[in-house]
Amino acid sequence: MNTDQRPAYVPPVETYQCCHCGGTGLDSYGETCGHCEGLGFC
Ligand SMILES: [Zn+2]
Ligand SMILES: [Zn+2]
Repeated sequence: MNTDQRPAYVPPVETYQCCHCGGTGLDSYGETCGHCEGLGFC
């Protein structure tokens, strides 16, 4: 059995909620936030 354990790539844990949509990815109109492009953080 292959027990190769490669170091897991750990993405940055600290993400910053978008200051425009508050992390929802949607703006006040329910559209994709143009500031974070729907990611919810920037
Ligand atoms: Zn933002
Ligand atoms: Zn946003």
